[in-house]
Amino acid sequence: LRHKLEALVALQKVDLDIAALRKSAENYPKEIATLEKSLADERSKVEAERMKLSDIERQRVALEETVAEDREKVRKWEARLTEQRSTREYSALAREIDIAKKGQTTMAEEVVELVKQAALQRETVKSRESEVQDTTKDLESRSADVKAKLAAVEAQIAGIDSKRVETSKLVEVDLLRKYENIRRKRLPAMVAVTAPGICGGCRMNVRPQLFNMLVASKGIDNCPSCSRIIFAAETLEGVKI
Ligand SMILES: [Zn+2]
Repeated sequence: LRHKLEALVALQKVDLDIAALRKSAENYPKEIATLEKSLADERSKVEAERMKLSDIERQRVALEETVAEDREKVRKWEARLTEQRSTREYSALAREIDIAKKGQTTMAEEVVELVKQAALQRETVKSRESEVQDTTKDLESRSADVKAKLAAVEAQIAGIDSKRVETSKLVEVDLLRKYENIRRKRLPAMVAVTAPGICGGCRMNVRPQLFNMLVASKGIDNCPSCSRIIFAAETLEGVKI
């Protein structure tokens, strides 16, 4: 009976190794997902800064058009100025021209300001773009790294899987079937019960009668709480589980 259990313990060790390997590979895709998210964030930031830039440019172009139209208007007024017969009409038009020219000066200053703003904004866009480039490079190299690591883990698992086939052949068919059923839900599927009757899987107490029976028979049963295969710890004393 001890030999049967030992064979199962050996199989379970293989399964625990495989589970540990799978767990070690679990974080790799998460790492990539995190990087992809930050890349998407950076890209949308670049897009927002580009929109700001084109807003500024649009404002500048519109203002420059207004200035040009206004200049044309003033030029026509200035031509008409010489045609004015009365002094009152002349000075009224001269005042209009004066106001329009002051307005043009203000608008020209605004255009200069917008040109400055656009230059600054262009710098912001550039630096955001280089951040995106850095993150893209980082993502590419990390992806390649992760792919290599995953492939290595898969190769290791494949190696262990073939060992698993050999190991499982040594386990009695009925016991193997029981073990496999439980293993799909919880691993480890077989655990020792330690005195005074604590299940090594779920840490719940088993009835004293059940514990005593396990000790006396050196056999197995199922934990009433977690249904794992249980045996008394002393049955496999000296075997590392
Ligand atoms: Zn249990």
